[in-house]
Formats: sequence, C-alpha cells, structure tokens
Amino acid sequence: MPELLDDFISLLFPRLCYACGDHLLRNEKIICTECYVMIPRTNYHLEKDNPVEQLFWGRCIIEKAAALSFYNRDSRIRKLIHNLKYNGIREIGYELGKLYGLSLTRSDFLEGINMIIPVPLHPSKKRTRGFNQSELISDGLSEVTGLPVGRTLLERNSKTGTQTRRSRYERWLNVEGIFTVTAEEDVKGKHLLLVDDVITTGSTIESCANELLKIENVKVSVAALAVAVV
Ligand SMILES: [Zn+2]
Repeated sequence: MPELLDDFISLLFPRLCYACGDHLLRNEKIICTECYVMIPRTNYHLEKDNPVEQLFWGRCIIEKAAALSFYNRDSRIRKLIHNLKYNGIREIGYELGKLYGLSLTRSDFLEGINMIIPVPLHPSKKRTRGFNQSELISDGLSEVTGLPVGRTLLERNSKTGTQTRRSRYERWLNVEGIFTVTAEEDVKGKHLLLVDDVITTGSTIESCANELLKIENVKVSVAALAVAVV
C-alpha cells in the first residue's frame, strides 16, 4: 500500500513546513496550509500606482510592478526566502514562483508581457550559492504562465565588486554598468518582466531596467516575492 509506505517514510524523514516548522500533510508542499493562507499578500498586482510602482517613480520607466508579500521581521515569507537563499532549499523558489504566477494569471497584470528576465546574481555569489534564486522563482512563474525565461539575456558584470564595503557615493558611481544585455536582438520590442526575490531600495531593479530600456521599444515590468516595508 503506497499510502502506508508514504506514512512510514514521513515518520523516518518528517517533511516540515519551511515557514513555521510544523509537520506537512501528504498533500502539502513546502508550506503548510495555515502558512499558505497567512502569508500577508499585498495584492499590488490589482492596484495601479501601488507603493512598489511608486518606488521607481522618477528613477526609471516601469510599466507595472508588484510583490506577492510584505517582507516584515519574523514574517513567514522572510523565513521561506531565508531557507531558499541560505539553506539552499531550491524547491521554495520554484513553488513560490508558481504560487505567485497563479495569482498573476487571474488578473490582467501579465497582459502584453512577452518574457521573464530573472535579476542576475553577481557571478561569484552564484558560484558560492550554486544557484540564482531569481531564476528558480522565474521557472515557477514560467510553469504556470507559459512565458519564456530569458535567463542569459541579462548578465551581471564580474568586474564590479560587491558593494557592501563602499561608501554611498562610491556605490552611486558604481551603479552604471553593473549589468549588460547579451543579445539585444532577442530583447528588442519586447515587454519584459524583471523578477527578483526581495525589493528593498529598488536600486538593483533600477539599474537592470535602465540597461534594458536602452534597447529599442523595450518595456519593463517588475514582480518580486516580497517588498520590504519601510
Ligand atoms: Zn507552516
């Protein structure tokens, strides 16, 4: 009896919710039903001129922007993203991407969008981590929306060091030229959805968008798993 075997396996290797640590039921994946329901959703994809869109006003032209959840201290989405990035639980990125993709497909948010572009990680960071969480989220989004993922069209240059040790002014100087578009022809005339895990200041998205917007007839929209509340 497969069910009995299933129960036996889960007794030996309990599957736990990556947000709250409770045991998962057989039909639950990554998060328990309670956490799934309790993730504080922004519903910004239904709101024009929402706070994520406003974050980019006067910085770069973004068609639409939204985030699944609020990134608060002790929030469930924060624990999920922590487990994804620092404990290497890749499934979380994929499943949350699918989850958000389902909400987005039920609205007109994706109307006119042709392609998903994951925000690239610094190459040395990607080597250390072994993956780019934005690509995993993009794969999940792609699974439910049918949109292709242009995973190599935007690259982060390895020359620019990590920015943590720089002063604010030095960081500002360094913003230009962080990213390069590798195949302009594949991007030309398209409406691109930039995907990231968490939006805080928006400066990474801003430099990606400004690089993409240099190309003829490109439009940029943004979707993230969470937005930090200031
Ligand atoms: Zn839970």
